[in-house]
Amino acid sequence: MKSTNPATDEVIETYDDHTADDVDSILEDAVSASESWAETDITERQQLLENAGEILRDRQDEYAELMSREMGKPIDESYAELEKCAWVCDFYAERAGEFLSDRAIGSEPNAKTFVSYEPLGAVLAVMPWNFPFWQVFRFAAPHLTSGNVGLLKHASNVPGCALAIEEIFREAGYPEGVFSTLLVGSDTIEDVVRDDRLDAVTLTGSEGAGRAIAEQAGSELKKHVLELGGSDPFVVLEDADLDAAAETAATARTINSGQSCIAAKRFIVADEVFDEFLERFVSEMEGLEIGDPLESGTEIGPQAREDLMEGVHEQVEASVEAGASLECGGEPLDRDGWYYPPTVLAEPPMDSPAAEEEVFGPAAAVFRVADEEEAIELANDSHYGLGGSIWTADLDRGERIAREIEAGCVFVNELVKSDPRLPFGGVKASGYGRELAREGIHEFVNRKTIWVQ
Ligand code: NAP
Repeated sequence: MKSTNPATDEVIETYDDHTADDVDSILEDAVSASESWAETDITERQQLLENAGEILRDRQDEYAELMSREMGKPIDESYAELEKCAWVCDFYAERAGEFLSDRAIGSEPNAKTFVSYEPLGAVLAVMPWNFPFWQVFRFAAPHLTSGNVGLLKHASNVPGCALAIEEIFREAGYPEGVFSTLLVGSDTIEDVVRDDRLDAVTLTGSEGAGRAIAEQAGSELKKHVLELGGSDPFVVLEDADLDAAAETAATARTINSGQSCIAAKRFIVADEVFDEFLERFVSEMEGLEIGDPLESGTEIGPQAREDLMEGVHEQVEASVEAGASLECGGEPLDRDGWYYPPTVLAEPPMDSPAAEEEVFGPAAAVFRVADEEEAIELANDSHYGLGGSIWTADLDRGERIAREIEAGCVFVNELVKSDPRLPFGGVKASGYGRELAREGIHEFVNRKTIWVQ
């Protein structure tokens, strides 16, 4: 396994993969830790999580640089990601006890009836490289605090981040075996999923990886959660504030250099304001600062891997060939590293990749619709259903449309974002299950009904 700097194509470090014997002993340690960890008082588990948050803040310079070097995230976004990780630690350090306390039902006058929340055991987290710290903390903060032990199989291009996170939990005081990293490729993960010592799995990643894990975990009847891709609609209605919409649209498409599951990908614009929006949006996209991810102020860094950048370019080329109008960008940049510029495609045909597929890079597709009804129809004309954003001056109208969008979350006059306080997840091919908030921490617990008479 190796880390390669996508801004320079230089190998940063190589790592030995864990062998089958290593994986076996890591699993054994996890199982040994599991029982006493589940019985540890929750206030102690909350304290350890708070410690992890403190380490993240204390060492933010080191971890921000690690992320930016290993997968090319602009450094300002790396700092923001670490702050969000510390926030999710604070959030569950404060609230986990409340979320996991018995829920009295009291439906039966002659009996005590309640729900207790008990950990499942060992949970495997298969995670992507795009938010290499956040995705892991989003999993670990609730699920270690609920008394599960965690095994991380991180993406193969971010082993440095994977090992750093393991170290954070160790230094925070977590007992040996409560959180471990498996340095293995995805081709060996099926054995872990099927291992009797493993109780549950969560995967954040592509649809293909989700289907593979769903088949394996499903055939073993193991609980699993899938957070998969998206092609989120960003609907601009004729009464929207176009300046705010265009500015936010550019941010929503290009956050993390365009490599975000909840990036806005399909911009659906009312005919009346289409030309005006397009002009402002293109100008915002062209104005973004492309540069060295280690330099503060950079807004667009390289794509994380060469093959991923090539994939985005193929989707753009095929969409233009099919009839989309290329408004800006559209060619890899002629410089070291795997840079792709902010790109806008206007009115791509419905059977082109920009309309049908998830484009995981800074390329936006802008569609023209006659009215609100057509906007909703097009927004829902996707096999994904992760998030959606609606822009209108009429908040009642926004709320009504939000209810009609087939997605796990919809934001009105705001970009789609995750927040520890709000449940997060998708419908349709974007997956199932929820992360964060009260809903998230309840995914990997036995919600046990107890009746005492
Ligand atoms: P990916 O190729 O699916 O990889 C994600 C993780 O799954 C990696 O650890 C990868 O390991 C592993 N993996 C790949 N194929 C697998 C298989 N057949 N069986 C088991 N594990 C497998 O996705 P990515 O390119 O890293 O990330 C981009 C995708 O993730 C996009 O579709 C994006 O929308 C989605 N995503 C979703 C969310 C969400 O919260 N819904 C958040 C972020 C990203 P290797 O690296 O070793 O192959």
